[in-house]
Amino acid sequence: MLSIDTSAQTVMERCDTLASYSEEPGRLTRRFATPPMRQVNRQVAEWMRAAGMDVHEDNIGNVIGRYAANQPNARTLLLGSHLDTVRDAGKYDGPLGVMIALACVERLHASQQRLPFAIEVLGFADEEGLRFHSAYLGSNVVAGTLNPEVLAWTDSDSITMAQAIRDFGGDPDTLLASRRRSDDLLGYCEVHIEQGPVLESLNLPVGVVTAITGHSRIIVSFTGIAGHAGTVPMPLRRDALCAAAEFILAVEQMGRSEPGLITTVGQVTVEPGLVATVGQVTVEPGASNVIPGKVVLSLDVRHQDDATRILSCQQLRTRARQIGEARQIAVEWQPVQENGMVPCTPHLVDLLSQAVKRQGYPVHLLPSGAGHDSVTLVKLTDVAMLFVRCKAGISHNPAESVTSKDVATATQVMDQFLALLAQSPTP
Ligand SMILES: [Zn+2]
Repeated sequence: MLSIDTSAQTVMERCDTLASYSEEPGRLTRRFATPPMRQVNRQVAEWMRAAGMDVHEDNIGNVIGRYAANQPNARTLLLGSHLDTVRDAGKYDGPLGVMIALACVERLHASQQRLPFAIEVLGFADEEGLRFHSAYLGSNVVAGTLNPEVLAWTDSDSITMAQAIRDFGGDPDTLLASRRRSDDLLGYCEVHIEQGPVLESLNLPVGVVTAITGHSRIIVSFTGIAGHAGTVPMPLRRDALCAAAEFILAVEQMGRSEPGLITTVGQVTVEPGLVATVGQVTVEPGASNVIPGKVVLSLDVRHQDDATRILSCQQLRTRARQIGEARQIAVEWQPVQENGMVPCTPHLVDLLSQAVKRQGYPVHLLPSGAGHDSVTLVKLTDVAMLFVRCKAGISHNPAESVTSKDVATATQVMDQFLALLAQSPTP
């Protein structure tokens, strides 16, 4: 029998270990199908095997450990999260969910316990979409919903996704074979850091997610004419960066104009309203003495209400076109991802809520403003999520922080969730 403190300590140490596998010295950046991802998959597979799991990697590079049921023909519960990161990431966004799922299996294994259903722990190869601007690659393959067109997309080194998958040891031509059958699944449950300040403000270690906010990702390109910074007079310029700058401010203004319904619980703002962000900008040719000829930027728009989000995107597209026309700049609008609001499955939300109560905590239900693999997996099976409090709500940042005590609580809640599911009539 493993003590809960030992399990929590192990989870913390493993998150530290995984954070050491990075593409960049001194900071954590782990993109899809890169050498550090290979090291991480190898390491996670080793821990999974030690916890009594059969391990394999599917054709896109998801690492999957299976802990068999105590009976034949049993159904399967999926647990896990993603193992890729953003640029200059923290240690917990993604890996924490995989490590807590692994800890739960390890605890069952240590007490020689099997459940009436199998458990598969999934470490998704790509959720953040940093390398190819296409999120949820891993879970899309598991759900069988990957758009094959994305295989031709290229990264910043002009390597196609298909080639990256091959280089990683996968097979882009047989991705459909890695699709999970849905008829034997009980659902997918993911533990993740909250990435917001609500739980901390309520002084709660965990919260149960009710729904995941809708989300649009668009690549916008502005093409003008590059020229000499000293010889081309201002009225004759077609500066792509100036057009992009005007658009970026329009994006901010749009977000601010729709703050949403602000519900206050203590000091906490629960409903973020419309959020619109330009997070990445590339400027070509990118020299101090050259007028920018081309700018490509990322646009990210989210809102709890799908209709509001879609309308906001349409308005921003019109605004981009107007800015382009006024400045004689060609504008290209390329939607790369569109996800509607995803509600979590009520009976799994109930089980998680009961599990939280049994640990002696009040149940706080909250929506997720961040996207997660459940957005994709809901097309395959029932979904649920447990959020863990993180310091100051900070994420996508090396300052990401969780406490060992909260990790212990989240692990106990998941232990309890598994026990409740085993007792429920569904398995
Ligand atoms: Zn994440």
